[in-house]
Amino acid sequence: MKDISINRNPAELRRMLDYLGIAAFVIDVVSADEFRLAAINARHEQLSGMSLDEVAGRSIDELLSPEMAREVKARYRRCVETKAVIDYRETLDLPIGKTFWQTVLVPFFDEAGNVTRLLGTAHEISNQVHLELEARYQSTVMSAYLDESPDGILVVDADNEIKTWNRRFLEIWDIPEAIMEARDGEAALQAVVQQLEVPDSFVQRVMELYGSLDEEEHGVRIDMKDGRVLERHSRGLHGPDGVYWGRIWFYRDVTEREHMTERLRHMSTTDPLTGIANRRALMETLDREFSRARRQGHALSLLMFDLDRFKQINDRHGHSTGDAVLKEFASIVKPEIRAGDYLARMGGEEFVVLLPESELGPARRLAERLCRAVAARLFKSPQGTFNVTASIGVATLRDDDSSPENLLTRADRCLYAAKSDGRNTVRPRGDVEDCA
Ligand code: GH3
Ligand code: MG
Ligand code: MG
Repeated sequence: MKDISINRNPAELRRMLDYLGIAAFVIDVVSADEFRLAAINARHEQLSGMSLDEVAGRSIDELLSPEMAREVKARYRRCVETKAVIDYRETLDLPIGKTFWQTVLVPFFDEAGNVTRLLGTAHEISNQVHLELEARYQSTVMSAYLDESPDGILVVDADNEIKTWNRRFLEIWDIPEAIMEARDGEAALQAVVQQLEVPDSFVQRVMELYGSLDEEEHGVRIDMKDGRVLERHSRGLHGPDGVYWGRIWFYRDVTEREHMTERLRHMSTTDPLTGIANRRALMETLDREFSRARRQGHALSLLMFDLDRFKQINDRHGHSTGDAVLKEFASIVKPEIRAGDYLARMGGEEFVVLLPESELGPARRLAERLCRAVAARLFKSPQGTFNVTASIGVATLRDDDSSPENLLTRADRCLYAAKSDGRNTVRPRGDVEDCA
């Protein structure tokens, strides 16, 4: 067996190195500043794009850019000076492009104990470095998102133990950081539960989701004791091959949005003058009650009011007195109807009362009572006291009615008949529809 430390035959060296499944190279140490590449193996040629014939015997300064050569030589020098094996990562601009390597340098000594040659073995780790960079990028994006997210975020691992959370999560739930730092899932849940309107169903659902690894949840409403409304989104986290990693929870404070939605809903369904339902709300309720009456086979009646000679009231007493009368009218009717009945202003000085589960007879008697109650009320204005009367048309659902419009149309016809009868009256007069 030959001693490789005195072998100067690159082909011989290369044959030995070719057995390695790793890029290998031999460096001749000429001086503290001059190193020559004595040999590279086939794997090195393949990975670096250099050939042994081109590089054998050439100095590092010839092979690499001045800057890179300086760095490479500094490492070689360190190995020579420390006379020890060194291990490092390096980036090289080679003919095939920029590559990353994990390299081990082993010194070889002459008889005087000086390092005359270095054996290098290097793994090409460009893929790994790119993956690491990608992972670092992802984690930078992730932590920026966690920091800036308007959602409170909590991540638990496969054992349901707290893994990570963001600042907003602590704010939303007002949980002391110490509880989270201690990974105390039980204490965290306690802190959360205390603040809920309906704690039991929350806990039950959270447990269900922990047991149901694939289930996702989007926009579940959570009502808090302090009036805030949260929305929860949650999904399981799965690694390669579907292995369960845990679950991520998002809590979004949607109080403002809910208030705004509620305000808009209220505005779109309420008459601003009287505060009672408007035409749109009445039509929706009528649709619903019509279907329910049909489904359950019970009665549905409707009173349609129109205040009499209202134009004159405005003319004599002023428009704002007219407005006050409309408001007062609503407050006369309200206490007279049942909880399930529905009063709405259809527009102008026209009102409707919807009476679920009422037959024509009781509906008509209610109309008469209301007619008398309105007429009995004394109104005041700077111009003096006055009375207001209403005409009322009553209709009840018939078997052959195909839509709620039929009911409205008949009530309107009866109202017209009441006006023709001289106003301040109810039609039909008896318990049979004589005007429809
Ligand atoms: P009739 O007995 O035939 O119903 O006579 P009327 O004067 O009540 O009938 P008409 O429909 O001609 O007039 C209704 C009046 O109601 C006209 C309008 O000025 C008044 N009115 C409608 N909406 C309002 C309101 O919001 N405020 C006030 N003050 N008046 C209103
Ligand atoms: Mg009118
Ligand atoms: Mg009128």
